[in-house]
Amino acid sequence: IPKDAEKMIEAHELLKKFYHHLLVNTKEGQEALDYLLNRGFTRETIDTFEIGYALDSWDFISKFLVKRGFSADLMEEAGLLVKKNNSDDYFDRFRNRIMFPITDHHGMTIAFSGRVLGDEKPKYLNSPETKIFNKSKILYNFHRARVHIRKNQQAVLFEGFADVISSSRSGVENAIATMGTSLTEEQAKILRRNVSEIVICYDSDSAGIEATNRAAKILQSVGCHINVAMIQDGLDPDDYIKKYGSEKFKNDVIGASVPLMTFKMSYYRRGKNLQNEGERFQYIENILGEVSQLKSAVEKEIYLKQLSKEFDLSMDVLKEQLNQKKPKQE
Ligand code: ATP
Ligand code: MN
Ligand code: MN
Ligand code: MN
Repeated sequence: IPKDAEKMIEAHELLKKFYHHLLVNTKEGQEALDYLLNRGFTRETIDTFEIGYALDSWDFISKFLVKRGFSADLMEEAGLLVKKNNSDDYFDRFRNRIMFPITDHHGMTIAFSGRVLGDEKPKYLNSPETKIFNKSKILYNFHRARVHIRKNQQAVLFEGFADVISSSRSGVENAIATMGTSLTEEQAKILRRNVSEIVICYDSDSAGIEATNRAAKILQSVGCHINVAMIQDGLDPDDYIKKYGSEKFKNDVIGASVPLMTFKMSYYRRGKNLQNEGERFQYIENILGEVSQLKSAVEKEIYLKQLSKEFDLSMDVLKEQLNQKKPKQE
């Protein structure tokens, strides 16, 4: 590792501990701590995930780092400081935010995401892409989850920090997240090297549903087998756990996850009236389109049978229609 990168990581490790100390031991951190406890975070999860608090100050961290011998220039490159326009002055990137350390897959802190305490925008502020933080290759919590992923032969993929943390507290510890951006092929490949079965458990709003389709496509392309855990009433996993508790989350959400095709069926069904001939035909076409992309002949047969039964169509007709669909060229 080059010397610069080493220094950047050292600064992140130091700040992670300092931010955590500010959150749990100081008067200045009390409001942030109360916010987290009110949201249902426990002291134990705050410690486990090393959550912290960045003071409401423009230069506290700049001074803190420089005093300890880190060059302001390098700390800017690391994303911790920001250079003021047309000057050699720097200010702290993260101010008055709850700090989630982001680690590489060895557990070294390489970035942060900071959440506001209220409703201001942006809700989360992330470290920029740096020499040590390649966003498209990092999955939140992968370092802690890996052993559980291997043991359970399954990983559960979430959208956000709070979802991973609440899920882990509920006993679903094979939990990782993409942190707001779409899942990348690199992230999918990292997962595939460790496990073949992925449960996607994204938010149940329309953005989450669309993101589920995108993530599924990428995961499929690297050879993963996908299940989808659906939450009913527009909640996200963290909200669900808060509202209904850990047991219901484990049994009725994760335990009740369905194969990707079942998810697609309900996805294409949404807002359609299958009594209407045109809409029914549209639905059958949608499903045949999905079936045509399956690699396994057995799976194809299973879903064609299902269509055949549900709509009283012969297997021959369905197969003929399916054959007219050329496999999509990427
Ligand atoms: P919370 O529960 O703290 O309100 P969330 O995780 O439910 O947050 P979502 O809006 O569902 O927030 O977004 C999912 C994830 O996307 C977040 O956890 C965060 O990693 C990322 N994210 C959200 N908003 C932003 C933003 N403005 N900039 C960068 N990343 C963001
Ligand atoms: Mn969301
Ligand atoms: Mn959410
Ligand atoms: Mn949330």
